[in-house]
Amino acid sequence: MSIEQPDIPARPTLDEYARAERLAPMVDALRDHASEPVRALRGRTVWMISSTAAGGGVAETLPRVVAVLRELGVRTEWRVIQGRNPAFFTLTKRVHNMLHGRDEGDLTEADRELFARESAGMAEELAPHVGPDDIVVIHDPQPAAVGDRLQERLGVPTIWRCHVGLERSTPSTDAAWRFLEPHLRRYGRTLFTLRDYVPDVLEDRASVLPPSIDPLSHKNRDLDLDKLTGILRDAGLLATEHPAITLPFGHRAERLQPDGTFGPATSPDDIGLLFRPIVLQVSRWDRLKGFAPLLEGFARLKASSGEDRKERHRRRVDHARLVLAGPDPTGVQDDPEAAAVLEELCSAWRALPEAVRRDIVLLRLPMASRKQNGLMVNALQRCACVVVQNSLQEGFGLTVTEALWKERTVLGSQAAGIRAQIEDGRTGRLVADAEDPEQIAAALDAMLSDEAGRAAWGRNGRDTVARRFLIFAEVQGWLEVLAKTAAPASS
Ligand code: UDP
Repeated sequence: MSIEQPDIPARPTLDEYARAERLAPMVDALRDHASEPVRALRGRTVWMISSTAAGGGVAETLPRVVAVLRELGVRTEWRVIQGRNPAFFTLTKRVHNMLHGRDEGDLTEADRELFARESAGMAEELAPHVGPDDIVVIHDPQPAAVGDRLQERLGVPTIWRCHVGLERSTPSTDAAWRFLEPHLRRYGRTLFTLRDYVPDVLEDRASVLPPSIDPLSHKNRDLDLDKLTGILRDAGLLATEHPAITLPFGHRAERLQPDGTFGPATSPDDIGLLFRPIVLQVSRWDRLKGFAPLLEGFARLKASSGEDRKERHRRRVDHARLVLAGPDPTGVQDDPEAAAVLEELCSAWRALPEAVRRDIVLLRLPMASRKQNGLMVNALQRCACVVVQNSLQEGFGLTVTEALWKERTVLGSQAAGIRAQIEDGRTGRLVADAEDPEQIAAALDAMLSDEAGRAAWGRNGRDTVARRFLIFAEVQGWLEVLAKTAAPASS
């Protein structure tokens, strides 16, 4: 058993957020709403318990949520707790996959015993740290039974925060919920990313709290023109002969070459990120992200005759390039499928006619430095004319949030997380069938031709994110839930 206490950087502070352009009203609103819940939580410690400190877009904001809660006056601790038994990891990974609808076979009585036994051990480790007035928040299925045991032993209020889910039930999801349900009964409250993910068994105790992005993170902060071009150059994404003040990144982006290997991103030519209409999807290399139909859809757009296009629009489609970017699979240990998915896309690319292939760029983004990776994603999103997230299935789709915050036009799919963020025709566009390349081609064609629409969707999208999906909204949501949880005990 191990308990880890991850580092929580205190900065940026709320004052620093408030000084950033356009963030002051959100910070003020948070401060206004915070005083009452903070009073209700006085004298208690909130324990955030998860099984991993990194990985996944959602985990990125938890340290920031903890830091802001602390700054507002809520004593908050975060612990990462892991069992040592590899069979427990394998089991919880299966449960996780099943909650996403994947068939992982039957969960047996032996699995139940293993889950309960390991969780009880973890609860024993944590129990001495938790005071009688504290609140325990358990993140995700892996430590779900730990909160249950702590509640039983200490009588403390517990909340279960679930970051995963599927908008429909399948035999696999049903089985996974049946497995977890006995361990969730003692939780006073459960918190889901989306209403669509709440299973029937938890309907009476579920609230919804969407995830959020940090507007001052490397991935989302505003970039002045010199910073933007500097990042592109240092990441090897832009060819220039001009001298530079900064040094190249230690690890640079790599691009699929005609011979099937990965080489410099500026070979065989400059991508044209600053000059061409760029259609971008940046995601993990996962089949469910819908890269393959997007590639096919873009290829059809390029191959279409476009006789009825106006001159300016015809040129825009002619010049457009598709950039598909994702983490270098060699740098992501817990994602063995990524390399296979990327290889499939490389094959699909090689099968395209040379003229179309030239305008489709596959990029591997190095993961060695999270900061530099975040800056690359940030810069690429800012260069895009249209950001696509063509997911067949999606937890929430933080890439959509990130792009909308940057006032980009987004083409999304019907996945629940994406529909929660994009209102078709107001904050972006949604394609009806993410697996239909014809529809994708038609949607891209229409979006590329509609300059005014793109500007309006981007503006409206940023506005939605500012109100609902920045860290300030999430912290406010946490405060409300925590104060409600604290209320019965203090009355
Ligand atoms: N991402 C990244 N580097 C990459 C590709 C993706 O940092 O090379 C980030 C992306 O910007 C987003 C997160 O990974 O913040 C993915 O979150 P999302 O909710 O879109 O999907 P998930 O991967 O959690 O299914």
